[in-house]
Amino acid sequence: MTRFIFITGGVVSSLGKGIASAALGALLQARGYNVRLRKLDPYLNVDPGTMSPYQHGEVFITDDGAETDLDLGHYERFTGVHATKGDSVSTGGIYTSILKKERRGEYLGATVQVIPHVTNEIKNVITSGVTEEDFIISEIGGTVGDIESLPFLEAIRQLGYEVGRDRALFLHLTLLPYIPTAGELKTKPTQHSVKELQGHGIQPDILLCRSDREIPAGERRKIALFCNIPEANCIQALDLNSIYEVPLAYHREGLDTQVLKHFSMDDAPEPDLEPWREIARRVMEPEGEVRIAVVGKYTVLLDAYKSLSEALIHGGIANNVKVKIDWIESEVFEKEEEAIQRLEGTHAILVPGGFGERGAEGKIEAVRFARERKIPYFGICFGMQMAVLEAARNLAGIEDASSSEFGPTNHSIVGLMTEWEKEDGKETRAADGDLGGTMRLGAYPCVLEEGTLAREVYGTAEISERHRHRYEVNMSYRELLEEKGLKFSGVSPDGLLPEIVEYPDHPWFIGVQFHPELKSKPFDPHPLFKSFVEAALTQSRLV
Ligand code: GLN
Repeated sequence: MTRFIFITGGVVSSLGKGIASAALGALLQARGYNVRLRKLDPYLNVDPGTMSPYQHGEVFITDDGAETDLDLGHYERFTGVHATKGDSVSTGGIYTSILKKERRGEYLGATVQVIPHVTNEIKNVITSGVTEEDFIISEIGGTVGDIESLPFLEAIRQLGYEVGRDRALFLHLTLLPYIPTAGELKTKPTQHSVKELQGHGIQPDILLCRSDREIPAGERRKIALFCNIPEANCIQALDLNSIYEVPLAYHREGLDTQVLKHFSMDDAPEPDLEPWREIARRVMEPEGEVRIAVVGKYTVLLDAYKSLSEALIHGGIANNVKVKIDWIESEVFEKEEEAIQRLEGTHAILVPGGFGERGAEGKIEAVRFARERKIPYFGICFGMQMAVLEAARNLAGIEDASSSEFGPTNHSIVGLMTEWEKEDGKETRAADGDLGGTMRLGAYPCVLEEGTLAREVYGTAEISERHRHRYEVNMSYRELLEEKGLKFSGVSPDGLLPEIVEYPDHPWFIGVQFHPELKSKPFDPHPLFKSFVEAALTQSRLV
């Protein structure tokens, strides 16, 4: 029997609903239950794939190639359950499917309306494909009170009614702001937010109250009384130093216990939280520190590199060190020559994924610095493409080596596969037109060559990693680049697409066309990040 937990947020956005949902999932899992987390976003984009990272942070990619909200990344990192296309939907996605049905005549004769058609579609998303899950945790994006979230609130209200209160739980995350002049935590915004939910027919069962300090007993009583919620279910969620402490803190506050009580699952086994304790210990009490420079372009908005910074933390967990990230805007290397000195003394350099020409030359400079100075280098997606351009220019002497992404070029070392197919006189695939969902997305296999660093790091001959890119390194340059020392150590099983490059004569230099950061977990750090941080640690002992 599957139970449904609905998570809403009130008062302000950015309260960490995604982490709260993920942490609850992890706690239920630690008690031996099967969980699946889902995200429903009220915005109108069909998916976040076309949004700038400035708007919505990183776009998370699932194995089956969906471009989803970054919260799905938190869900996977906390529970290890891999999300699928069906676990993330937006209003735009809901309407797309309704309008397609309408055109096919599936509603023939009916007036298509928000209620029941949109709300039914939302309910279908929440309940679809549910088989052995004990809990489906559905997080509703946005803040209660937003106009666009109304159909979602109505849908979860109906679903709660339909499955029955013993199979549904409404959890609301709010904020108790501290007003220094009054010296008090304020409960009024929470009361109003709950009233708003009640106005939509939803009585929250549990309140999770974010606060920067302990909530006094009197305030808790007040919230309970005015919001119609037992005091034990008004749970404080204090600010913490690391997100990986959240499951432990919520457990101490009784969150999972109260959730299970609501479902009358009093005989539930105690959770095994030892793995989380070990993770928290390693994050909070590392035995050393490495400094890693990340040369990118969205460095003012770190949500754009969420999975990446988490994967580096995981690499740190694996090596029992703290990874201190120095975020560097790559354009600084283009503006003044001496700026490259900023990389002096860094223990490792990473160029992450990216799009467009801005900052690309600076990234190539960073690659050169890492290659020549023998500093560990990790290039991810765009960072691999820039490593290949650097090799083509500075080792193979192709001065104008470039990527078609930056405009027409005589030497498109990086380009669209369709360009080369065209050259061969083969059929070309449509590359023009729609931009949404037109990249190489999702999991693809890759074969690793014996005797390479990649093979050693993974410890296996075939891997599967997630992709999100439009351009590829042109295989016709492989021979030339390999002669110059850049080894293509991982390729697609058909041998047509390069996936990994490396320099055998460098202490640690790897470029990957995929995004390994998407699959790293705190309890299962990705082998590449584990090995990269280890190489940074070795380097730190040299400088
Ligand atoms: N812009 C590059 C491409 O589309 C790289 C994308 C990325 O780094 N995710 O191929």
